[in-house]
Amino acid sequence: MENLTTQVAIIGSGPAGLLLGQLLFKAGISHVIIEQRSAEYVAARIRAGILEQVSVDLLKQAGVDENLNKFGLAHDGIEILTNGLKHRVDLSELTQGKQVTVYGQTEVTKDLMHAREAAGCDGYHGVYLQMFHLFQMN
Ligand SMILES: Cc1cc2nc3c(=O)[nH]c(=O)nc-3n(C[C@H](O)[C@H](O)[C@H](O)COP(=O)(O)OP(=O)(O)OC[C@H]3O[C@@H](n4cnc5c(N)ncnc54)[C@H](O)[C@@H]3O)c2cc1C
Repeated sequence: MENLTTQVAIIGSGPAGLLLGQLLFKAGISHVIIEQRSAEYVAARIRAGILEQVSVDLLKQAGVDENLNKFGLAHDGIEILTNGLKHRVDLSELTQGKQVTVYGQTEVTKDLMHAREAAGCDGYHGVYLQMFHLFQMN
């Protein structure tokens, strides 16, 4: 078994793990990401499509917002139709100017993976981490 020394081990390369990795990289903290699935599987996994403001802000802070700014569709609110009447829920007004952005999680994942690749950060795919392994970590 290969021995690794790092400050932080992140289990899972979903958007949370990848974003945390990018923020740690920017802060100069060494880390690895361990993911049970292949990189291709993770990049192609279809899931979310709506990003809340806090996610958009974090992606900006991580410096991974170029495509998001280019292709993301910001919405100030939503409209609900009942009995022929349109009701607008003005998200921006209700949240002091915040918005939601339509941008696929698949794209967020790919953007973060590309940023990780460009930064030369380590990642291990096809590795399932069990509790037993966690107890062996110092
Ligand atoms: C159909 C669907 C639609 C959704 N729509 C929205 C939406 O519109 N807006 C929104 O904000 N959210 C949405 N979500 C939720 C969003 O997709 C999740 O909140 C997000 O994926 C969570 O990211 P994560 O990184 O925490 O977890 P995950 O994406 O689940 O990533 C966790 C990773 O850890 C790996 N892993 C787990 N255990 C181990 C282990 N022991 N060893 C190694 N690897 C491990 C897994 O393989 C996985 O890749 C949706 C989810 C689904 C399923």
